[in-house]
Amino acid sequence: MIFRIGILGIYHESNTFLQTATEWEDFEKGHLLLGKEIVDEYRTAYHEIGGVVEVLSNQADVDMIPIFYAEATPGGKISSLASGKLLGNLKELLAKAGPLDGLMVLPHGAAVSEDYPDFDGKWLRMVRELLGEDIPIVGTLDPHCNLSEEMAASANAWIAYKTNPHIDQRKTGRDAALLLLGMLRGEIRPVMTALQTQVAISIEMQHTASEPCLGLYRLADEVAALPSVLSVSVLLGFPYADVAEMGSSFIVVTDHNPSEAARLAGRLKSYLETYHHLFSGKKIGLPELPALIEKAEKPLLLLDMGDNVGGGSPGDSTFLLAFLEESDFGRGFMCIYDPNVVDQFSRVRVGDSLTVEIGGKTDRLHGSSVAVTAELGAMVDGKFFEFEPRHGGQVSFDMGLTAIVQTTQNNTLMLTSRRIVPFSLQQLLAFGLDPNSYQVIVAKGVHAPLAAYMSVCKDLIRVNTPGATTADMSSLRYSNRRKPLFPFEQIG
Ligand SMILES: [Zn+2]
Repeated sequence: MIFRIGILGIYHESNTFLQTATEWEDFEKGHLLLGKEIVDEYRTAYHEIGGVVEVLSNQADVDMIPIFYAEATPGGKISSLASGKLLGNLKELLAKAGPLDGLMVLPHGAAVSEDYPDFDGKWLRMVRELLGEDIPIVGTLDPHCNLSEEMAASANAWIAYKTNPHIDQRKTGRDAALLLLGMLRGEIRPVMTALQTQVAISIEMQHTASEPCLGLYRLADEVAALPSVLSVSVLLGFPYADVAEMGSSFIVVTDHNPSEAARLAGRLKSYLETYHHLFSGKKIGLPELPALIEKAEKPLLLLDMGDNVGGGSPGDSTFLLAFLEESDFGRGFMCIYDPNVVDQFSRVRVGDSLTVEIGGKTDRLHGSSVAVTAELGAMVDGKFFEFEPRHGGQVSFDMGLTAIVQTTQNNTLMLTSRRIVPFSLQQLLAFGLDPNSYQVIVAKGVHAPLAAYMSVCKDLIRVNTPGATTADMSSLRYSNRRKPLFPFEQIG
């Protein structure tokens, strides 16, 4: 028998604390891929689709049917117009794909739309209803997923990446595809328990190669090694969504052993709830920075947690720009989203200087514009490629028209026309910038940039800057989250 297996995904991490919505054009600027385009984009990528394709394209009994994949850079809630279009496309393309024997689904797990606070639950439920209960559905998740009951129940099994920065996405795709194949061939009968916890892990403490995550993942590995267990997922959660499912969760999949799945998921949940106090973070503020930078080895990576583009922030926060321009720690590098200033530099020649007001233009949360006098070093198209395993697993990047300028304070600023995640050193190397030539490099992220930048930087400081991705959850106003939930309420 030949199994017709579909591949389908809507992938977005939505920050509900932002005023600007994520529109259809943002998906167009990201990825809107149909059929074979999905395979062409990701076949060799360190992305979960790469792993799915690797497994499914190599089986004599599988007909792989890539259907639809939509992805946009993390940002505000998906607008109702965009979510309507996404659902419409999904329905139409799934019908066009014809009868399927199994389906791989690839959400991020933290998508929120203006119409549906649990947008992933919405589209996954729709897919389940269109396919019926008897067709196996297996999915991958980003560990920054806020798991809802609806999402969990819409697939037969879920597997999340196990690293942050996410460098095991391809393997996760492979594992999920093999699990689906095992089901279709009648070799396994997965059953799953998904459990929400009373803990929201601070973004600052979500680095999987450091404590306290190490202890948690060690326990998850122990559980995963038990004979009846097929997969264990730790869902760290995404703090920047004011939704009922915000927080950390666990998923255990066993081979036809529901009581064991429930018992083991309970064990993981109780571990996290017992050690919750370890998961709340240090929160180093701007006043403490000069002394810490002085002591740090260079090049030093400064992580701008409040303007974490991978968490939806605008990428034009100026707190660290003002800091760099006012202090003297040697050459600094920083990338800032500012299409307006790029436009101003596009009207002058290389070598010309301009005094411009940079950043702080998207909203009032990320500092005011900083006046800077800078010389244009280069004007580039902003397109680059990454072929190494890096957070996010994307291959092609596009910053739009980009100005690389040198300030009178000897800092290099990369000014982009599109928001860009700092996940690849090619962002510098492709445009002739040597990351080793800087003493201080600012990256607008928390953990994701480490996979790229720690091959160059000798030290790092995570800075608790204000913004839509502040590391301090207690400064955000939630009205829909579950209760009790640490760190807002005391638990246990
Ligand atoms: Zn993530």
